[in-house]
This record gives sequence, structure tokens and C-alpha cells, in this order.
Amino acid sequence: MALDFDTVVVGGGLSGLAAARQLREAGQAVAVLEARDRLGGRTLTVRHNGSWVDVGGQWVGPGQDRVLALIKELGLTTYPQPQLGRRTVEIDSRITRYRGFIPKIGLRALIETAINVYRIERSAARISSDAPWEAREAHALDQLSIADWLTDHSSRRNAAELMRVAVNAIMAEEPDQISWLHFLTYASAAGGFKRLAEVRGGAQQDRISGGAQQLAAGLARLADVEVFLSHPVQRIIQREAKVEVHTTRAAFTCRHVILALAPSMCAKLAFEPDLPAARANLHEEMAMGSVVKCVVGYEYPFWRDKGLSGEAVSNGQWGRLFFDNSPADGSVFSMVAFVFAAEAKEFGAMPVTERRRLIVADLERLFGAEARHARWYVDKDWNQDPYAGGCYTGVLAPGVMTSLGPAIRQPSGRLHFAGTEAARRWAGYMDGAIESGQRAAAEVLGRV
Ligand code: FAD
Repeated sequence: MALDFDTVVVGGGLSGLAAARQLREAGQAVAVLEARDRLGGRTLTVRHNGSWVDVGGQWVGPGQDRVLALIKELGLTTYPQPQLGRRTVEIDSRITRYRGFIPKIGLRALIETAINVYRIERSAARISSDAPWEAREAHALDQLSIADWLTDHSSRRNAAELMRVAVNAIMAEEPDQISWLHFLTYASAAGGFKRLAEVRGGAQQDRISGGAQQLAAGLARLADVEVFLSHPVQRIIQREAKVEVHTTRAAFTCRHVILALAPSMCAKLAFEPDLPAARANLHEEMAMGSVVKCVVGYEYPFWRDKGLSGEAVSNGQWGRLFFDNSPADGSVFSMVAFVFAAEAKEFGAMPVTERRRLIVADLERLFGAEARHARWYVDKDWNQDPYAGGCYTGVLAPGVMTSLGPAIRQPSGRLHFAGTEAARRWAGYMDGAIESGQRAAAEVLGRV
């Protein structure tokens, strides 16, 4: 079999498949090399209890034009994230219920939170997600962590804790680990902080019926390229006229390579000649967030009977973010809980019976004793996934964006970089993955 292609795409997630499709449509011979025995990367839909469960990416929302267009093209349907009833917030063991965007956490804390949300929106609007390192005051903004900024702008503990949990939920990392400039860039790429945080009108508005991994399968069909599963790439050698791409099982040659991976996954590859220092350092410095996503099945949606939406944020141990996770057809009922950051690492190391016990205890505390009667439990620890190395996305510590950020999309010889981390819009999201793949394909085709 001749393993010579115009372009080899490394990574069979949404980004790599979107790139492959665009190249194929331009008449190129394209191979997608995927380390796992499946496509979809950070989207993964598993069958459980006669239904489907997304244990990776799942929500889509307004402004995510690329993923919404793909859903439409594939003939898939979406349904609104169930949200009828009051939301729940738990700060320092105090549980309150509320409607609207900002929880009932006391008048002063509420005002402080509203002002801080306004400040974040205003600051994010001034950052271009194409080149945040060129922003006025970029260096000063990048020296701060999100935690530094919150300390400077919070006088009420419960308001600060609420923002901390919001950052956990959005970035799957602690605020002291992330540059303030990176956070503003992330918000800017999504069209604002509220877009990131909200259900209606935001990134958690809709679910894909049947699960998000269908997007990868559908894109692969549309792309109609050769896909090599279970082909982890180990080494990439740029020669004068060709590039060699070596997997554990075969060697491929091509004119261009698109690396559609998180930078931290690129760090595991050997490059000859060495990559420019900024790009190589970015691979080391852009750490992944940490998340365990847990889904608990119930006989009936007991929280709805109590007028609760099932949505909750908590600064308690383990689960920090909860939603009603039931499909629209009422075939099964479930709740989803997310465990983030350092706690995710500790949680993931426990046996599954203990993980289930802890999440059910969280649900019981937040939604009532009925939560005890869980029917089934499934979770996915993305930290222990060797081809994700954490999730949802790569995060930059203070100082990294201004020193290494420009390397994120900068081609190196015949190598081009995609993956949601390299997106200019909706970085970190499925939509960003598609955007980055399309942009890298356009680069290869000389259209950028
Ligand atoms: P990936 O999906 O990571 O694709 C990269 C591919 O490269 C993978 O398939 C990997 O196996 C492969 N690979 C790695 N190393 C090698 C190698 N050496 N050789 C060959 N192949 C390799 N996004 C949303 O829009 N909405 C959400 O609700 C949402 N929630 C999320 C919840 C969780 C728990 C997680 C994990 C993610 C979530 N995301 C969400 C993020 C979203 O899933 C990702 O942004 C998107 O899927 C990334 O796509 P990608 O193609 O850039 O990267």
C-alpha cells in the first residue's frame, strides 16, 4: 500500500476531520492518523442502560456557527438543555435556590458579582482573540492570574467563591493556574463571559440528540479520506521535499502535515529538525485542565417534581457543577456532575464505587434524599486518558501568553497547527476545533 499523501492530518478529533474534509474537497489525497481505535477525541458518546451518554463535549450554543452548520448538514437535531425550575447554589455549605443569571448570595455579594461580570465583559471586549498578545497592557494583564484579579476586585467571600467556581466550570482549572489575559482571550473568542457561563443564550444552551460523537463520524463520512485508527504518531521528520510521519505501525510521506492536537499532546512527539523554541516550549507550557465527568441515572427526574432545574454550582468538595442530563425523549433520566482541577486528580484515583458514592452524596445534599436511589453511574476521567492528558482544553499560566502565545498558529516549515487550543473563535470548544481545522487546511491550500 502506497502511504504517500498530499497532506497527513494527525488527530481524528473534530479539528483534524474538519481539516481533512476541506483538503479533500480541494482535491488533495489526505490521510488522518488517529492514535485511538475510534474517532472523536474529546467527544465520546457511550451506550449505557439502553441509552446514550456524552462523557466528553456535549453542549452547543448560539454563535457557534460552524458546529451548528455541521449539525444541520448531518441532519442531526438538538434539544434545549432542560432548565425548567429554580437553580441551586451552594457556597460554604449554604444552599440557596434562584432564578436568573446571578445567584441569591446576599445583596452586596450580588452587586459585587454583577459589577465584576460587567468588568470582565468590558475587558474581554477589548482583547482581540486573534492576537491577544498585541493588546494594550497585554503584559500587565498576562502577569496576573485570574485569582489575583479576583482578589483585587472582591470584598465579599461568597462573591469571590462564586466566581472561583464559575472559573472552575468554564476552564476546568483553578483560577491561580490561569493567566488573566488567557481568560479574557477565552471570553473574547466566545463573544463574552456570559456566553461562556450561560445556558439560554450561552454555550450550554442545547444538546445534540444521540450524542456529540456523531459529529466526528459524520465529518469522517463527509471528508471521505483514508483514516488510520490505532496509529499513534511518534516522530515527524521534515526533509527538503517531503515530510515523513512515523506511527507505531507505519511510515507515511506527504507534502504537508496538520497537527490537530492539543499542544500538550504534541509534546509527546519527536520532531526532526527541532521545532522553533517558542513552539516547543508552548507544548510544554500549555497544560491541560482537569475534569472527571460523572453521570448518574435515576428512575424519574425527582428534582423536577420539586421545581428544581437540576442545575447547581457548589464550592463543596468533589462535584462543582451539575445539570439535568436527561435526553429529550424521556427514555432515561440522569444528572451530570463535574469534578475539576486538583480534586479531579484525587477523585480519579479512587475506585469507581467510591466515586459513585461521593457524587450521589453531593446530589443528595443539593437536591434531596431521593438522589440516594441512583440506578446507574458512569464517569470518564480525562486526566487518565493518554491521548487527552486532561480536559477540556489547554490553559496558560501567567506570563505564557505574551511570551509563547504567538507560536500557537505559526506554521513551522511544512507543519501546520490546528486543534481547539489554536482556534480564534470559541477556543476550547467543539466549534473552535472545527474553526482551527478549517483555518489550517486553508493555510495548506495557500488560502491564508
Ligand atoms: P481532540 O478531540 O483532542 O482531537 C485530537 C485527536 O488526536 C484525538 O482523537 C487524539 O486521540 C488524537 N491523538 C493524540 N495524540 C496522538 C498521536 N500521537 N497520534 C495520533 N493521534 C493522536 N466543547 C463544547 O463545545 N461543548 C461542551 O459542552 C464541551 N464539554 C466538554 C466536556 C468534557 C468532559 C470534555 C473532555 C470536553 C468538552 N468540550 C466541550 C471540549 C471539546 O470536546 C473539545 O474542544 C473538542 O472536542 C476538541 O477537538 P480537537 O479535534 O481540537 O481535539
